Amino acid sequence: MSVIFFSKLMNHEIFVQPSVNQQKTVYKNKVKFLGWESKMAYLALVNTSTNLLFFRVKPALLVLGIFALLFASCGDEELIADVGIPVDTLQTKTSIHYGIVSDSFLVFQSSVKKNELLSHILLRHHIPYSEIDALVKQAKDVFDVTQIRSGRNYTVLCKNDSTEKAQFFIYEPNATDFIVCDLRNEMKVYRGEKEVTEVRREVAGEINSSLYETLMDIDVSPAVAMKLSEIYAWSIDFYRIQKGDKFKVIFVDRYVEDTRVGVGDIQAALFIHRNEEFYAFPFDQGQGSNYFDENAKSLRKAFLKSPLKFGRISSGYTMKRYHPVQKRMKAHLGTDYAAPTGTPILSVGDGVVIEAKYSKFNGNYVKVKHNGTYTTQYLHMSKFSKSAKPGKYVKQGDVIGYVGSTGLATGPHVCFRFWKNGKQVNHRTEKLPPSLPVDRKYLPQFEAVKDSLKKELDVIPFEHNSKEVALAGV
Ligand SMILES: [Zn+2]
Repeated sequence: MSVIFFSKLMNHEIFVQPSVNQQKTVYKNKVKFLGWESKMAYLALVNTSTNLLFFRVKPALLVLGIFALLFASCGDEELIADVGIPVDTLQTKTSIHYGIVSDSFLVFQSSVKKNELLSHILLRHHIPYSEIDALVKQAKDVFDVTQIRSGRNYTVLCKNDSTEKAQFFIYEPNATDFIVCDLRNEMKVYRGEKEVTEVRREVAGEINSSLYETLMDIDVSPAVAMKLSEIYAWSIDFYRIQKGDKFKVIFVDRYVEDTRVGVGDIQAALFIHRNEEFYAFPFDQGQGSNYFDENAKSLRKAFLKSPLKFGRISSGYTMKRYHPVQKRMKAHLGTDYAAPTGTPILSVGDGVVIEAKYSKFNGNYVKVKHNGTYTTQYLHMSKFSKSAKPGKYVKQGDVIGYVGSTGLATGPHVCFRFWKNGKQVNHRTEKLPPSLPVDRKYLPQFEAVKDSLKKELDVIPFEHNSKEVALAGV
């Protein structure tokens, strides 16, 4: 138990950069789980078990290191980050490192410290400046040694004799790639990639606080929440998710050894928002994968071209126009549609009403937030509809109010304003994301993919929430 714990600790905490929150959390929980006796046993293991693992450090540093670990096991993980293990740590277990049989070497593993350069590390391992120079030149085409960043892992394989001279330096620029510097007679520098294992996961949950927290509770990477919010950006406002909303999602976790290094694309999802089902299935029609619902409709929705069923544009979007009431040149950051008072005004897309009120210039107006990018606004209404209340969810085509001439208006019309990332733009020239359904010729293919994924989704129970299937390494 302690050994496993310790090896985990070594792999995840000392050698993996501390910014990986997920791993930090796992580690923290593990420490909390251990009782005081286990901690002592574990410290004893560090001191006595030289055949497993030992520190080649000065006694004072060893004490410091143990203290750091001890404090860390009280839950203060920052100490590890601050104190760290000031020198590289020697491992003697039999293994292959980065495709190199390392049995005959002394294996030192650590992470680059703040302000540390490659030369600092190599000098420490008995590589003279002249050889470091030669290495920098040799490495030029493969990687720029000045790009070595603090917190990244490295390994040094050294001669197992009195010289302890470095034979290989291996740097990991990220969780999956590595760069090998062969420092022996003829220097060589090459890149390699770690074996990544994919584990397909099916999870389900009910949201009590936020989607992010619910996913964290079942050990799902926050990246999945990000991906879901992108997929559903046009139908669900993730800032206003309701308690009781539910989801099921099938996705892939990517691992290097037992460390999660990322997630793949979402393979299928179901979101139940305000008791309505939103399915999402990826399908590629030859232009990259997009998500579609169970009826082969794109999850990206087009906006209605106009907020009125009938009406005519009386004034377009322009940076300059003569204002009929104020009698001066003024930008008009909207499109006016003239129609008789009382004509229904429609929300051009699904979204949440964020404002429905009166102001001096706008008169009665409604603002609808469609997603993180787009918001629309409708001015000069004679009156609001029942659904035009802040916080209410409206669907595309829902009536939100009626044409009028309240505020600064010469006659009955609706002034339609389109906001993109907080700025007003002309909706008639705005390039909006594609929203076409699955093409008829691909329908049989889509149906087959969808049917099998939907069956899979539908049998995932909400109560029990995680199933893992290891896929072959890729
Ligand atoms: Zn206007």
